[in-house]
Amino acid sequence: MKIMTFNLGGTQQGVPLSAASISGGKEGENSRALLSYLGNFIMNITREDAKKSVGPGWGSLIDKIYDFLPESSFVLQVKEKYGTLRFYVDTDEKILDKIEEIEKESEKICEICGKEGLLRTDLGWWLTLCDEDYKERKKNG
Ligand SMILES: [Zn+2]
Repeated sequence: MKIMTFNLGGTQQGVPLSAASISGGKEGENSRALLSYLGNFIMNITREDAKKSVGPGWGSLIDKIYDFLPESSFVLQVKEKYGTLRFYVDTDEKILDKIEEIEKESEKICEICGKEGLLRTDLGWWLTLCDEDYKERKKNG
């Protein structure tokens, strides 16, 4: 699983030209300047908003991440994709490794209720569900 980090080099796609042209200082300072500029358009996602972005069964995983996330981190997006948790954040490399581990944990935790789950691939889309919620989904199509 790949965690997308925000590439702050300045010329990549998606970054508005005026933001990319912010200059001066070291690279780290540029990154901060760029982030604060982008902050006018995208929000640093809070713990509560992150929880609303995925099923309630993953609330504990979201808590785990926010508990060790440095305050300087910028959370861009939190969602379920292909049945697992995706946490997009600009933060330290070491922190990203820890987040990746938690993303992997989501493959074994029911997104709906938090019980032990499995990645189900036969529902028309991929979801990590416990047996009970899986049967429920199957029944309801
Ligand atoms: Zn469940």
